[in-house]
Amino acid sequence: MPLPRTRGTALRQRLAELRGPDVPAKALDARALAALAANPGCARRAILDGAGVNKADLASALGSPSVFGQSQFALTRGNAFEAKVKADGGAELLRLVHEKLDRAAEPPAEARVPDLTASGPQGRTARTELELREATERSGAWTLLDHPMLALDVAGSPAFLEPDAVVVHPDGSWTVVEIKSFPLLDGSADPAKVGAAARQAAVYVLALEEVAARLESSPRVRHRILLVCPRDFSNLPAASAVDIRKQRAVTARQLARLTRIEDIAEELPEGTCFSPELPGEELTAAVESVPAAYAPECLSTCELAFHCRTRSREAGAVTSLGRPVRAELGGLSTVEDVLAAARGETGDPSDPAVAALRRAAALRAEALEAACR
Ligand code: SF4
Repeated sequence: MPLPRTRGTALRQRLAELRGPDVPAKALDARALAALAANPGCARRAILDGAGVNKADLASALGSPSVFGQSQFALTRGNAFEAKVKADGGAELLRLVHEKLDRAAEPPAEARVPDLTASGPQGRTARTELELREATERSGAWTLLDHPMLALDVAGSPAFLEPDAVVVHPDGSWTVVEIKSFPLLDGSADPAKVGAAARQAAVYVLALEEVAARLESSPRVRHRILLVCPRDFSNLPAASAVDIRKQRAVTARQLARLTRIEDIAEELPEGTCFSPELPGEELTAAVESVPAAYAPECLSTCELAFHCRTRSREAGAVTSLGRPVRAELGGLSTVEDVLAAARGETGDPSDPAVAALRRAAALRAEALEAACR
């Protein structure tokens, strides 16, 4: 359905229609953005996230509920740990930033913790930017921004992000702080969890860089972030500086490659809606009208993974076998195509993938023959 050329309001209206009447938008967070950036070829995820569709509700309505989300107990424990880390005006948190990232600076005996309250995400983003500017200009002092709000343009729509904290150093540089509830055991943590935290922090760094670029003083956004976790099995904070340069570069490249949400919306049939209130058949048709790019990695990053995996298997798509296998198979996109090529029924013999499949099929036949003798 063609969109009116006036962007902004028209796009927001179209995205609200896709979400369904009276369905509130689910805000994109850094975790979702990092996952989106990890699968930039998936138009389905891009439009659902862009429209603020709650994918967990959608997956349940499709009959393939996700296994995502933290338990209430884990959330409460995480919140209690964060409150402890930030107690006394963030004294312990700032001590850790000083110790791990900026030992040359004066220790943070006195630090400002400005009030960032404002109405709505736009108001909070503006307030954060104002405080960042003021703190940067007031050189020689430490400032802790507790739950600031940042905006990042994602495929033509703004996403509002809320890091746990941002610290402004006395030299005016900025550090992202991530507070997680998984433990640091003997100084190291689960690499998968640290990697996920680093990807999330990379999204915050990109958003902060957009703010920094608007300021006259062009402050430096540090590419080493502070990860704070409980030490061993206690509730005491321990911290580690994490270099996120690689994650930042990958995320920036992937986000830039995302198809514009506006363009995907234009391709959808008129009346498409993803409201979980719709009958199952209608909802399935709406979801299937947007191309997906399923890969096994989706299982750990997207709420729709079980639904997309079933569809991908039904279609015999080789992507369900994993990206490395997909890459090896060149232009062969279904299991049926692969088997036909291996049997010599289809495919160009000069294609390296086809040649390798035929060689493998011949070796297998030989081995089977030898085993039967
Ligand atoms: S699970 Fe489906 S919607 Fe989600 S990223 Fe994978 S293919 Fe896209």
